[in-house]
Amino acid sequence: MLRKNRLFTPGPTPLLPAAQTAMASFAMHHRTADFRALFSRVLADMKDFIGTKNDVLVLACSGTGAMEASVSNLTSPGDKVLVLTAGKFGERWRDLAKAFGCTVEVISAPYGETFSLDEIRHKLTSDVRAVYVQSTESSTGARHDVKGIAKLVRAAGDDTLLVVDAITGLGTTHFDVDGWGIDIIIGGSQKALMIPPGLAYCAVSERAWKLMATTTSPRYYFDLRIERKAAAKGESAFTPATSLFAALAAALDYIRELGNGDLVAGREALVNNAELAAQMTRAGAQALGLKLFSPSCPAAALTAIQSPAGFDSGAIVKEFRESFGAVVANGQGEMKGKLFRIAHLGYYDYLDTIGVLAALEHVLANVTSKPAEYGLAVGAAQEVYARHLQRESASAVAQR
Ligand SMILES: *Cc1c(COP(=O)(O)O)cnc(C)c1O
Repeated sequence: MLRKNRLFTPGPTPLLPAAQTAMASFAMHHRTADFRALFSRVLADMKDFIGTKNDVLVLACSGTGAMEASVSNLTSPGDKVLVLTAGKFGERWRDLAKAFGCTVEVISAPYGETFSLDEIRHKLTSDVRAVYVQSTESSTGARHDVKGIAKLVRAAGDDTLLVVDAITGLGTTHFDVDGWGIDIIIGGSQKALMIPPGLAYCAVSERAWKLMATTTSPRYYFDLRIERKAAAKGESAFTPATSLFAALAAALDYIRELGNGDLVAGREALVNNAELAAQMTRAGAQALGLKLFSPSCPAAALTAIQSPAGFDSGAIVKEFRESFGAVVANGQGEMKGKLFRIAHLGYYDYLDTIGVLAALEHVLANVTSKPAEYGLAVGAAQEVYARHLQRESASAVAQR
């Protein structure tokens, strides 16, 4: 059979066709009134996408660039910071904070798990400058309790800031950024926004801006203060990734359409879509006897599935690609060979979700040389989908 190439990776994710078209012939100069209009419109829309009234900045870099900016702009060498880590991306926070000379306190949870709020409460003393955490740890498929953590940080006072790497959280998780008091929340273009890699974005609170005036870590390209000044005039400090802005504008228009003209409603629909795809995938995998890697706190952004005992997940990843053109992700670092990850971030629909589960039935049978019982994963996912439709129509009736 034909094999179409499809990404099921937690970034980069499948591209929105309208965004690809928008960027293909885009050649506007960035110091023009037309581009300033586009730039300002995108920044305003991004506030709705993130769900904040705080300033939003879009930077020309991958997600890690905005992570670095949130360390270099908010800390001075020697500052005590608290890093919450339960995977490879949490470890990135730890390494970044160390690179900028912070005194790093770490709270860690085993891979596949999340943190104890009591332990955070205990370690969150008022001399902690900032707390760094992921909302979803893409290396394990775990979701962290950002709301609960934010409550603890806010109770610690206004001199302690909360920075959330929501690079796979935005567009897959409901956040109340301003209500919970998140000081910097970070996203990346190649995840739920359905466009290529190359842009990072973040929303910055008033509390963070105020504190930034006093910090002394070195920064230049990622000096958020000069980006804020430029953004107020509809520009970026340096040359923006212009064609990615065109793609981003198209993606935001698509999300607005999902909400029938309301971008906030569209964002909620995108989150619910990921949530449903994740529920279907978990049910499908478990129906095949597979174990989830993060069963107690699974994210909607992606599902991490343990490789069956005695089988390297690399063989599963390879079989997906060779037999079906489907790119799923292996485990990272120490988790390589132990799990595989299927993403639900952004542009995935029912057929993608059912298709990858149908492929999984073949892949598993081939890799383990066990006879397949076709339809187990697909059927379980269909049940989840059907129950979802029933709930939706029941709530529509209740609202009438
Ligand atoms: C993708 C991702 C990043 C950013 O990685 P880049 O390669 O720099 O874009 C950071 N954190 C999480 C949780 C991610 O999923």
